[in-house]
Amino acid sequence: MKERIEIVEGDITKLKVDAIVNAANSSLLGGGGVDGAIHRAAGPKLLEECRTLGGCPTGEAKITKGYNLPAKFVIHTVGPVWCGGYNKEDDFLSSCYKNSLKLASENNIKSIAFPAISTGVYGFPLERATKIALKITTDFLMTDQTIEKVVFVCFGKIAYKTYKEIYDQLFVE
Ligand code: ADP
Repeated sequence: MKERIEIVEGDITKLKVDAIVNAANSSLLGGGGVDGAIHRAAGPKLLEECRTLGGCPTGEAKITKGYNLPAKFVIHTVGPVWCGGYNKEDDFLSSCYKNSLKLASENNIKSIAFPAISTGVYGFPLERATKIALKITTDFLMTDQTIEKVVFVCFGKIAYKTYKEIYDQLFVE
């Protein structure tokens, strides 16, 4: 299991994997943060395809092509906005990871990279979000044979350190 999960620091738009996940907003029509970076790197055809999708509810996921990205596909998921933990944010964030992984597996995707969904403008506490990301992913991989590699892309040193610590805790023998 440990070999199927990788933690790296960097820019998700540079990754040569089958699919990268976008922390989108429910319109799927682009935004700031990682969403803006993905649209800039993919080019205008991505927005054109997104316009045909009719948006996406929080916790769900939709797939498009990757266009000018090194990744073949983009899986767009909509994370919850943090409201102090009173709005089922944990459940919605879990659903983002589950539904993205499910969609990847259904599309025969072997390698997938995630950003730290909801932990930017949406304000979800990083450590709490990281625990959910790693727990849901390990649970999913235990019953899935299709996805060979999941990469968590940390934007900056703080996120990288947090992911590494929680990853090490999860895999202590
Ligand atoms: P959200 O609205 O879901 O919080 P953001 O895009 O604001 O989405 O932030 C989500 C996470 O993506 C944050 O941890 C942010 O640091 C990170 N991020 C921003 N740009 C990139 C990038 N190019 N590659 C990887 N992660 C990124």
